[in-house]
Amino acid sequence: MKTFYVTTPIYYSNGIPHIGHAYASFIADVIAKHRRNLGYEVKFSTGVDENSQKVVEKAAEAKMEIMEYCDSMAAKHQAVWDGLGITYTDFVRTTTPEHKTFVQGVLQKSFDNGDIYLGEYEGLYCVGCEAFKKPSDLTEDGLCPDHKKKPDVIKEQNYFFRLSKYEARLKKLFAENPDFIFPRSRGNEVVAFIEEGLEDFSISREGSTFGIPLPFDKNHVTYVWYDALFNYVSACQNGDERFWPADVHVVGKDIIRFHAIFWPAMLLSAGYALPKNIVTTGYFTIDGQKISKSLGNAIDPVEFCGQYPKELLLLYLLTSFPIGQDGDFSVEQAVNAFNAKLANNLGNLLNRFLVLSLKEGGKIDGETDAELAAKETAFVETFQKAMASYDLRSALESAFEFADALNKFVDTKKPWDKEAVGVVDTLHTVGEGLRAIAVCLMPFFPEKMSEMLDRMGLVSQRERLLAGKYDEVISEKTAFEVKEKGEPLFQRIA
Ligand SMILES: [Zn+2]
Repeated sequence: MKTFYVTTPIYYSNGIPHIGHAYASFIADVIAKHRRNLGYEVKFSTGVDENSQKVVEKAAEAKMEIMEYCDSMAAKHQAVWDGLGITYTDFVRTTTPEHKTFVQGVLQKSFDNGDIYLGEYEGLYCVGCEAFKKPSDLTEDGLCPDHKKKPDVIKEQNYFFRLSKYEARLKKLFAENPDFIFPRSRGNEVVAFIEEGLEDFSISREGSTFGIPLPFDKNHVTYVWYDALFNYVSACQNGDERFWPADVHVVGKDIIRFHAIFWPAMLLSAGYALPKNIVTTGYFTIDGQKISKSLGNAIDPVEFCGQYPKELLLLYLLTSFPIGQDGDFSVEQAVNAFNAKLANNLGNLLNRFLVLSLKEGGKIDGETDAELAAKETAFVETFQKAMASYDLRSALESAFEFADALNKFVDTKKPWDKEAVGVVDTLHTVGEGLRAIAVCLMPFFPEKMSEMLDRMGLVSQRERLLAGKYDEVISEKTAFEVKEKGEPLFQRIA
């Protein structure tokens, strides 16, 4: 069986996922579901990054033991993903013995081949970012631009990773794979950064008590990023080795340098193949303001999905913002998108088909209009091409454009009119188009698209699609059987 491996970042365990995290997880989830429909065996990992100083601080604030705190936070994260119907197969926690042993193994490998060495570090460290900073990374006032705080000044003996050694190989990687990062614009930023020259980076902290001790010097613990990035490979143990290299990492733009520069170099050093693609998401603001705890504007994605139709949040996030660009979240726009695309366009088209088919006795078998059949072929091609390059927005838009064309076709043919000719052919054409849309959009809206196929009398197609038989189903032209109209699939929000 063909395998496919998609990952989300492991999110900081000291916070609760908000819509920015949900966005990345939705993208990974749609990709996973799509590949399952195509017949792949899919591994989909998500999880929590636990070995950080912030976790120690938060546990102390909450007057909890560190592991007690980590357990409670991991449970909260899982509750969010389960609540959103995210179909992850692996939930990684970096405090597990399996992960620790694995990370110590790769550290030892890189140490043995001379890529890790002891040196003196003097510089700036932002605890919020868990990252070392150059003066050029800071604001004019010397603050971390993301945390608005002065970084700590650190002078200590540290172990360094020889990133400079991999500069040429990274340049080659990007030159040979211009689509390594989606969208390309984010990749170009990474290339520009590499062009400035890569410096070795510190991978240990001395005297910390929490984290993974270096196997060759127990007085040091591993820098949290070194440990966290390897979660993607440590999840591929115990029979899952075949899933590495990952097909795609979905990451936020704030952590792209770690994933596109440090990570490939660390993998090369430890003797692993490189991931095939990285998808980068942008930042969200809410009604023009940064998402923050102090502003109290962080939207709980599970609560939000309970207040509105389940499909609204995913639809809005994936259609309204090109992947990789920043966006401003507005509930009003989300509702408008739902009404326009799902209720008025696709939902209305299905409703017309069901009502008019029942008038004709429910069984619809006829000729498909040649022009619309050609449009359908073009839509399916465009859709799958966009999905293959992780351009989920273009994929979704191609479906809504095709639904729009089908609605216009119905408007022209007026199959409700007494004088209308070829009514069954018209309905068959519309049914055929709706079938293709439901099959393609299954990874985005599995419950509704399943219901859509069932209402059209296509239970067998739905079952086979969900069993991974997309190729068989998409090209199988069929007759339709409508038994009842039912409630509107997507109820318009007033
Ligand atoms: Zn920071």
